[in-house]
Amino acid sequence: MGTRSVIHVRETEYGAEFVSIYRHMDGYPRVGGRDLKEFLTGYRIVNGVPLSLSGCVACGVHRQWHEKRDHEFVQPKVANGPGDLASQLVTAYKRQHDVYLVPFNVEQWPSYHYFVWLDGDWLEYDHTKNPAKIMLKCVRRHDDKVLYSGPVDGFDPLCEAINV
Ligand SMILES: [Zn+2]
Repeated sequence: MGTRSVIHVRETEYGAEFVSIYRHMDGYPRVGGRDLKEFLTGYRIVNGVPLSLSGCVACGVHRQWHEKRDHEFVQPKVANGPGDLASQLVTAYKRQHDVYLVPFNVEQWPSYHYFVWLDGDWLEYDHTKNPAKIMLKCVRRHDDKVLYSGPVDGFDPLCEAINV
């Protein structure tokens, strides 16, 4: 039996939802939360990706001119707003984990819910002066306990052991 979880990417904490990703296995914070933190850490959220930030991590070539290379495009950790972040999360997770998209109002059956959002109006962010902070909340379903809520950098995958 898997430990089921759903990752919700939202515009704000309680705002419009871009995507809900269902992960069948290993949803508890020690693994599911850890993986999510690892994915999100280091991301820069921008409003309009400058060419200087959009090249392949391996070779520097822009995606548009990358197709004839001997390797797959390696996505830089840059997202053009929350919708781009959400689609990159789906792409990366589908390659690595057993995940599906689900309707955003599922509440009953996953054991853990993870919420990802940005701490303000992303349209005001730029990649140099005013980077967006990515926020993460982890809720355990059976007692609705918020195991963590705050900047993703501060998330501790062992939070469940502390918040018994
Ligand atoms: Zn490349």
